[in-house]
Amino acid sequence: MVKGIKKGDAVFTTNFSFFATAEVISLLGATPIFVDIDEDTFNINPELLDNQIQKVIKESKLIPKCIIPVDLFGQLANYQQIEKIAKKYKLFIIEDAAQSFGASYKNKKSCSFGDIAATSFYPAKPLGCYGDGGAIFTNNYAYAKICKSIRVHGQGKDKYDNIRIGLNSRLDTLQAAILLNKLEIFDDELILRNKIANNYSQQLSNYVKVPKIHKNYISSWAQYSIRVANEKDRKQLVEFLKVHGIPTAIFYKKPFNENKIYNLKSDNFPISKKVSQTILSIPMHPYLKKEDIDKVSNTIIKFYK
Ligand SMILES: *Cc1c(COP(=O)(O)O)cnc(C)c1O
Repeated sequence: MVKGIKKGDAVFTTNFSFFATAEVISLLGATPIFVDIDEDTFNINPELLDNQIQKVIKESKLIPKCIIPVDLFGQLANYQQIEKIAKKYKLFIIEDAAQSFGASYKNKKSCSFGDIAATSFYPAKPLGCYGDGGAIFTNNYAYAKICKSIRVHGQGKDKYDNIRIGLNSRLDTLQAAILLNKLEIFDDELILRNKIANNYSQQLSNYVKVPKIHKNYISSWAQYSIRVANEKDRKQLVEFLKVHGIPTAIFYKKPFNENKIYNLKSDNFPISKKVSQTILSIPMHPYLKKEDIDKVSNTIIKFYK
């Protein structure tokens, strides 16, 4: 909304994320152009991003405007490559950091990449409030000023001076109070999540594909997601874990291109298709006890044995 994205504009994003990432593009009347993912990180593949941008330029039906990388499950996207591509085609970047608050690359924190970043404080995210909340980050004062206006129904000089079409996007005082307190223990929680993830990976790496975090990256572990051989194995493993009282979740069962709303051919997205059929998220939060981690791990190992 800050950049006036509208009908006729192309916004490039990953084919594998929560629906909201694609939804906001369509909400403004623009066209989302989906890009397949990297199999190791589940994040947008920069090489394929470049190809898709070239394709849109060649077809000259849409105007390329923006890239929305997502830091899926808490690991940052490859911004070194994405920033080069954005520069080359004069596009701006919105970091979808809904799952990555607290993550970093060489001490550069999530929510500081691109031109604008957005995170979510939904309870299931790394820093969750007790309802709905979120934050926008930018180092551009002009953008920040427009965001502040949009947040309160397009407010101008005062409450009843409305100078643009905005939203009700205020953060409740109650949620803010909860977040301020949780923020104080957040760094400790991040360390705990990383310890738990390492422990899972040590125990499980001989049985399933464990998440790969590249060198110099620290994940915020919104999810700990393993990969199994195929859809049938996943179904049986989910059932086996359920019988043993262990909940699991599948993020995401369908890549965007297979959603009825978009319904695009799937041969362009082999990796996101494969990942959507074989991924499984197991319990992850900072207060999982050693017994819990062992129980989850041992039950998965038992399934394979
Ligand atoms: C949760 C999530 C969102 C949306 O967050 P809300 O707080 O529901 O608006 C957007 N993108 C991703 C990747 C998410 O996981």
